[in-house]
Order: sequence, then structure tokens, then C-alpha cells
Amino acid sequence: DLESATREWLDKDDRYLWHSMASYGAGKEPLVITGAEGSWVTDARGNRYLDAMSGLWCVNVGYGREELAKAAYEQMKSLAYYPLTQSHVPAIKLAEKLCEWLEGDYVIFFSNSGSEANEAAFKIARQYQEQIGERNRYKFVSRYRAYHGSSMGALAATGQAQRKYKYEPLASGFLHVRPPDGYRKPDGQSEEDFNLACAQAIEDVIVWEGVETVAGVIMEPAITGGGVIVPHPSYMKRVEDICRKHGVLLIIDEVICGFGRSGRKFGHHNFGVKPDIVTMAKGLTSGYLPLSATAVRKDIYEKFRDQQSYSHFRHVNTFGGNPAACAVALANLEVMEKEQLVDRSRLLGERLADEMAEWVSHPYIGDIRSFGFLMGIELVSDKATKDPAPLALVNRIISSCKAQGLIIGKNGDTVAGFNNVLTLSPPLASTDEDVAFLVRTLKSVLQDVVADARLGDSASV
Ligand code: PMP
Repeated sequence: DLESATREWLDKDDRYLWHSMASYGAGKEPLVITGAEGSWVTDARGNRYLDAMSGLWCVNVGYGREELAKAAYEQMKSLAYYPLTQSHVPAIKLAEKLCEWLEGDYVIFFSNSGSEANEAAFKIARQYQEQIGERNRYKFVSRYRAYHGSSMGALAATGQAQRKYKYEPLASGFLHVRPPDGYRKPDGQSEEDFNLACAQAIEDVIVWEGVETVAGVIMEPAITGGGVIVPHPSYMKRVEDICRKHGVLLIIDEVICGFGRSGRKFGHHNFGVKPDIVTMAKGLTSGYLPLSATAVRKDIYEKFRDQQSYSHFRHVNTFGGNPAACAVALANLEVMEKEQLVDRSRLLGERLADEMAEWVSHPYIGDIRSFGFLMGIELVSDKATKDPAPLALVNRIISSCKAQGLIIGKNGDTVAGFNNVLTLSPPLASTDEDVAFLVRTLKSVLQDVVADARLGDSASV
């Protein structure tokens, strides 16, 4: 039966598989996911869950799309693999399509993961600066709380102590500043002024470090994995001005915000800025195959085109831009366009925000933030002091949701004591019923938490 089959898988999982992030065993076990359709996944026991993490922020078009599976199959039959040291049609077509989506003059370098796309961005930025005669520009500025990937450079750019401190020293030259976390702004300062002060902190670092030593600034349009921190509209434009003024490249990490999540094609489109470099992954293929991309402003790329081989970009990866992944990405973007999923993201995001707005009066909810169809609910133990809620409360809400068929996430930084933001990022192709289920379930779980607190049961959370 299903239960004993599941037990068998779990025993083997426990024996052979090393999971990322969590360790299981000792009464905790992973879901063994066996199938998925639309926004719903099914586990080996036959339970169904609405995936409001969309498989870790990827699966924008939803699961079980024939079009994407067919595209992979057809491409693998005709040309499964060739490296981009030469060329092939799926990569050419996809690069052209991405430039159309970016609405700018870019050239596309393909890799396999978000981390790698950021590594490529750092190397391109350093080499570009060198090639225009700025030989000492090697530093990068990013924000605390942001996540940019797991490799030694991308992790160095990351501003979450919990992910880094056991693996240091990381790549050198990465500096961090305070994120524009408006919820924790000083009393009496407007949201806009606080955000502009956070932007100013970037300029201060650039100047104090020595302008001639700084190659780039990297940031997500809104910090996603670090707690859904959405900046004031003025912030990004000010950062762009600062970068331009000092000859520093602006690298925008669209690994999560890209491809419609923010309610626009790319997150930075919300702020009217023109990045020098844009990195993307996850939603590029809706997670159906691994693929990432680093889009580089055309005139930066031109500095690498010199016939002298010392000016080439000395960076290669075997699988980046492989034909099957490119074909899947093209099919994915076709679905996005045909079903107008960028607009759908905005619509569903607004609906979710409206539904949840009044819940900010919940005793444990300090703040509710959204960026398109992405929501962060910041849990606090005390609304006056804004002390982060204990992990036990966060986990309890997540496991109650799971017991009712809803997968949501949490994020923040355990070491810093901030792992207190519930995150919701369902597929952009979610149906109206999916969203209604999500809202109904979440509200009922939050309601129970309040009821328990009234009964004096808060010690158990
Ligand atoms: N940048 C951001 C903003 C991310 O959220 C992630 C992954 N969560 C990455 C980079 C790294 O991507 P990958 O896991 O594909 O290496």
C-alpha cells in the first residue's frame, strides 16, 4: 500500500540522500513528491498540496505543461547537446527573446544556475573595468539579508550570516550595507527618506573604500529570500544614479523577481532603471530544466570583442545554454506570453494583498509586504518592539498549513535572529480557486494561532 511504499522510500532517502538546507530523521521527514499538475503537488502517500513556494520560487507556468516537455523531447531528438564555444539555433533564438523581454540592448551569456550567472557577472564586471583601464576596481557592494547564491563569490555577495560563517574565507572584496527594510526604519523618518539614506550608505561605502577600487553593486529589485524587503520607488533610481556617477556597474539579480513574479517582466522594470548587467535563472525555464543567463549591456560586451585573445572572457561552462534547456525556456516564455502570465501575476498579487491587508492587525503579524505575486508576512512576538517571532511559532504556522495541504516558506537569517518572514510565491498560472484555497487556509491557520494565544497556550508556540 501507499504507506508502506512511502516508508520504504523514506528509509532509502534517509540512508542515501543528502538534502540541501534541512537534515531529516529524528521524527522529521521530507515530502516524497511523486507528481504535480498546475499549482498542486502530490506526495507518495497520495496527499495533495498547493505549492505556494512554487518549488522554491521557480515554477511560474505551473507543473505538468505538455508544451515544455515536448519542447525538451523534440530538441533532444534533433540536437541534445552542443557547447556554446560554437553556436546553435535554440540559444540564438532564446538570446534574442530575452533581449525583447529585457527591453534593452543586451548580449546574453548562458550558465546553469543563479549562482553561476552571478559569478559570471562578477568576472565580467572585473574584467570590463580592467579593460577600460580601471585596473584596481575589484570590489562589489551588496546588501545584508540578500541571497545571491551558494558558490564562493555569490556567497560572498550574500548578506546572511547563517549561510556563510562556516565556509569562510569566501571570495574577497565583497562589502555589505543595510537593506531598505522600511518596517524597521527609525521612528519619525519617512519611508522615502529612510530608503534614500539606505541608498546613500552605498555611496558612502564606495567613496570610503576608494571609488577607484569598486567594480559593481549587486542587488535584487526586492530582497526575496532575505525576507521580502520591497524598496520605496525612489531607492533603486538613486542607486542607479550613484553607480553612474562613480563608474560602478549596476548588477541586478533577477533570479527570483524576473519573468513576471514582480508583476512586470523583470523586477527592475518597476523602478525605471537600466541595469548594466542582469542575472536570471529559475523562472527562465519555470524550473523544467536548469538554465541561467547573464545579460550584459551591449557596449560592455563590445570591450570583450577585440581580436586580441587577452580580451576574451575566459570563462566556460559545459552545459550552459544547452539546446534542450534553451528550447524549454523558449516554450516557457511562449506560454507566459500566450496566457499573459505577467499581467496575471499583478492581478493575483493585488488580490492576495487585498485579502491579507486587514491581517496586519493580527497580534503576531508586524508587516505584510508584496511585490507582484510574492508576499512576505513578517511575524513578531511583540508589535511594539518588533522583536522577531520565535522560530517555533513560524514553524508551527508552516506545519499547520502543510497539514491542511498548503506549502508555504519562511526566510530571513537564523544567526541574526530573523527567520520570521512567511513567504508565498505560488505559480503565476494559479487559478482563482487556487488563490481562494491559499487565502482560506492561511487565514484559518493564523486564526488558530490567535485563538491558542488567547487560551494562554502561547508557551507551546
Ligand atoms: N540569486 C537569488 C536572488 C536567489 O534566490 C538564488 C536561489 N535561491 C540564487 C541567486 C542562486 O540560484 P541557484 O540556486 O540556481 O544557484
